[in-house]
Amino acid sequence: MIKSINDTITLNNGVKMPQHGFGVYLITDEEKGYQSINKALEVGYRAFDTAQFYENEALLGKILDESSVKRSELFITTKVANYNQGYDSTLSTVEQSLKDLRVDQLDLLLVHWPSKRRFFETWKAMEKLYSEKLVRAIGVSNYEIHHLEELAENSNIKPVINQVECHPYLTQAKIKDYVDKNDIAFEAWSPLGRGAVLKDPIIRIIAEHHNKSIAQIIIRWHLQKGNVVIPKSNTPSRIEENASVYDFELTEEEVKIIDALNKDQRTGDNPDDLWFQM
Ligand code: NAD
Repeated sequence: MIKSINDTITLNNGVKMPQHGFGVYLITDEEKGYQSINKALEVGYRAFDTAQFYENEALLGKILDESSVKRSELFITTKVANYNQGYDSTLSTVEQSLKDLRVDQLDLLLVHWPSKRRFFETWKAMEKLYSEKLVRAIGVSNYEIHHLEELAENSNIKPVINQVECHPYLTQAKIKDYVDKNDIAFEAWSPLGRGAVLKDPIIRIIAEHHNKSIAQIIIRWHLQKGNVVIPKSNTPSRIEENASVYDFELTEEEVKIIDALNKDQRTGDNPDDLWFQM
């Protein structure tokens, strides 16, 4: 059972990754960025999840570089944007990501969304970046089972992780089961769901029982299920709150009660709707 925000999982290539990281989507304002990312470091976060699409790699790189935390203690993930997919553009834009993030090597590089047209070209470039040690691990995001199967049949390196939308209203049980069986880690984006989940009356009862917030219960639920989780907030008190989930445990029954809230309800795009468009 996870005991602290510094605990790691071991990916299928042996690289260790913190199970509880900080998402930085929409953190683009410099002043707020300093406030949020420094607060995240202060409360113990060492893993940061960005993307080329978020247009904040340079800001994140600058803040981490200026912080007193050593590079070796950090775990930085970025993602190849849809508009940068393809062999040459993946190679050239990741080179730019490395510069912007002020690192010689990324800890984890993901394909942001599956694209039917450039599926294998992008992955081949990712394999090359991995073999050249410019990235320590490569993975995917928003892959449905059929995308993972297609990749498995036609690639040399298996992804270490699949980052998908996941929260109590979209538990993704089938994908989770598939990746567990295939030694691919499962990572939840929008782990708190956007909106309604944070007001759920059943989770509220569990939260009151533990004297915790609904957000803390949801983060703990992810961690106990083995999900990598990357909640985001721009509010210092919430950043601290979201990191303070190591002084209580949910019972197995409580985990199951939250599992049963699933409605297959997305807040973001369905990957299969974008698959043919890109
Ligand atoms: P989230 O589930 O982390 O947070 C949703 C919202 O909840 C936040 O914007 C904030 O307003 C609110 N919130 C946070 N903490 C709270 C608290 N303690 N109490 C009450 N409200 C709180 O959603 P997200 O930002 O969409 O996702 C997290 C991270 O996942 C992103 O920053 C990004 O790194 C990643 N992500 C990846 C993809 C992808 O396609 N791979 C897509 C979206 C997000």
